[in-house]
Amino acid sequence: MQKTKIVATIGPASCEYDQLKALAEAGVDVFRLNFSHGTHEWHGEVIKRIKRLNKERREKCAILLDTKGPEIRSGDLRVPIELDEGDELTLSIRAGDYDKTGKIGVNYDAFVDDVEVGGAILVDSGVMKWEVVSKTDTDVVCKVLDGGELTSRRHLNLPGKDVSLDPITKKDWEDISFGMEMGVDFIALSFVRHAAEIFTLKEHFKTHKSKIQIIAKIESYEATNHLGTIAEASDGMMVARGDLGAELPMAEVPTWQLEIIKTAAQYKKPVIVATHMLESMIEHPVPTRAEVSDISTAVWQSTDAVMLSGETAGGEYPVRSVQMMSEIVSVAEKAVNHDDIRELAVGHEREAFALTAATMPLDLPEVEAIVVITRSGQTARLVSSFRPSVPIFAFTNETTTRRQLQLIWGVRGFLIDFSSVPEKTIQRAEAAFLEQHPEWKGRKYVLVSDFLVEDKFIPTVQVRTMH
Ligand code: PEP
Repeated sequence: MQKTKIVATIGPASCEYDQLKALAEAGVDVFRLNFSHGTHEWHGEVIKRIKRLNKERREKCAILLDTKGPEIRSGDLRVPIELDEGDELTLSIRAGDYDKTGKIGVNYDAFVDDVEVGGAILVDSGVMKWEVVSKTDTDVVCKVLDGGELTSRRHLNLPGKDVSLDPITKKDWEDISFGMEMGVDFIALSFVRHAAEIFTLKEHFKTHKSKIQIIAKIESYEATNHLGTIAEASDGMMVARGDLGAELPMAEVPTWQLEIIKTAAQYKKPVIVATHMLESMIEHPVPTRAEVSDISTAVWQSTDAVMLSGETAGGEYPVRSVQMMSEIVSVAEKAVNHDDIRELAVGHEREAFALTAATMPLDLPEVEAIVVITRSGQTARLVSSFRPSVPIFAFTNETTTRRQLQLIWGVRGFLIDFSSVPEKTIQRAEAAFLEQHPEWKGRKYVLVSDFLVEDKFIPTVQVRTMH
């Protein structure tokens, strides 16, 4: 069983039912919908198709809604502008029609306060680079350092700056409400800066009794200063390498990737490594050897998931990209040494149980799996965080939990009805599992489950045989 999970972004190249089905069959665990693009109508149709697919397949895919976030955008242009090194241009918070003013609009008023003279502005994550030469109350004059073609509404980064846009914009809140209505499993919060944004959204979900989990996208300079508190507050993190490499020096991205994976592990939260993983496959049927190495490195760093963006959303080879990613992941996983589990501090009783369960297969080679009975999925996530040598089969009575576990390293989720008597629940779990995998009869596993002792539920770890 492949342990590292695959997240694939859906776009015009992959949104039809048959395309989604082919992607799921090629190994996608989580479908990502990028709300920087597309209407609610378009995303709603895709979500309905994924739900139909989930009804028809035994394996279930989770849905992740990725917010646009507080992005700085340049204004509308009737025709693209060619900019050469040394050219000057004016960005203005008051610009209307470019043709009349000769100035390019920006989407928020505090932009002038957020930039500083001598500072850099990156366009489309660094495709173009400008330097601020002067500013007034409304205008920012820039000199072009790296030229190119400027088209409408381009994404601008201010490297190393804490931008004063609302952390969760009006559009984000509308998209989040839409996601809640449509029953998505994860919300990825773009440009998170502090844990406070996550607490605000968590409170919102609590008030609305929503079980949606929050993935904090680490892509701003400010977030790298608060990794620990963000990891603690969120349900997972994403190494959003595209914007991260524009907000910080590009050469630092691999170091931050390692740091974010380590921090997520410390807080026992899942992590996704994203962006440009198979970028060349947008146009070519085979990846570069560097891309193959990049995915393998993420696997060896023990990420929970790797992500495809343009490769599956708009590329020429969406299914081949997933097949290739899956092949690279499984070959890289074979090279992982299973002589030990991941060393993490244990903070409370449940974590100690998870650690014991994860360690047992090392001492008992006849044990071939860890079975976890879990309502919220939390125990399965804790066991996974120690990276045991055997697969984790998680049995839950919640459909949302089952889908959310699709993101977690080494976990396969199953849905069963729970009984008030734990032993009956375990029998149901075994029966459901053996029906799908009769070859497991007579094989040993570690069980993590609560047990009823007199009138109290007590967590236990046991070794059992499938029968
Ligand atoms: C990124 O910047 O790497 C990222 C994943 O975010 P988005 O694709 O939304 O820009």
